[in-house]
Amino acid sequence: MAFTGLLITEIFYSLQGETSLIGVPFVFIRLTGCNLRCTYCDSVYSFKGGKKMSFEEVMAEVKKYKVKHVLMTGGEPLLQRNTLEFIDLLKTEGYQVSVETHGEVSVEEASKKARIIMDIKTPGSGMSRGGYIKNFPFLKPTDEVKFVITSKDDYSWARDLVKSGTIPTEEILFSPAMLALNSPGKYEGMEPRTLADLIVGDQLPVRFQWQLHKLLWGADTKGV
Ligand code: SF4
Repeated sequence: MAFTGLLITEIFYSLQGETSLIGVPFVFIRLTGCNLRCTYCDSVYSFKGGKKMSFEEVMAEVKKYKVKHVLMTGGEPLLQRNTLEFIDLLKTEGYQVSVETHGEVSVEEASKKARIIMDIKTPGSGMSRGGYIKNFPFLKPTDEVKFVITSKDDYSWARDLVKSGTIPTEEILFSPAMLALNSPGKYEGMEPRTLADLIVGDQLPVRFQWQLHKLLWGADTKGV
């Protein structure tokens, strides 16, 4: 019989560190497994291992907390075939569900059920494959896209995409990949002040964000 559960790296309660809901309490469900290997990845511990948990076990963990919002993250949450069914269960229980995805798998079904936060992988990630273009038709105006900016070249690339007017949501997030706060990797690193100055200088209609959880509690703090 097929397993009706999820492979879980961790479930925890914290403040949302990014997106338009920054600072809002969330339960984070981090699913195991990712098919990408971004240069700045700060959740490499989610690539392997994990614990098989039934839907009932995951739900019981979520219900330990008084919270309205649940984020499915990873790894890449949309790689697990039971993720969509579990989102339905969460919604039945009255939760508002967000999905953080790397944008290289289809969000067609997930976007009908949840608020999508879709990474658009910049060249500096080392994983810029262009899959996001196929997902644009499925994004709702209330979904969000996020660029992790690792260098000035990344900024120019992302800025040109924003200016092209093809991104189907106005909630566009620019986040600096700081060498001090992200995993050491093969990327140049972007100072927050530099990124902010570039955005202001170009009058770019995007939201600057800085991983709140790491500023509050340190570089090794888990969150999204
Ligand atoms: S998509 Fe996310 S989890 Fe996967 S390697 Fe990139 S940053 Fe890490």
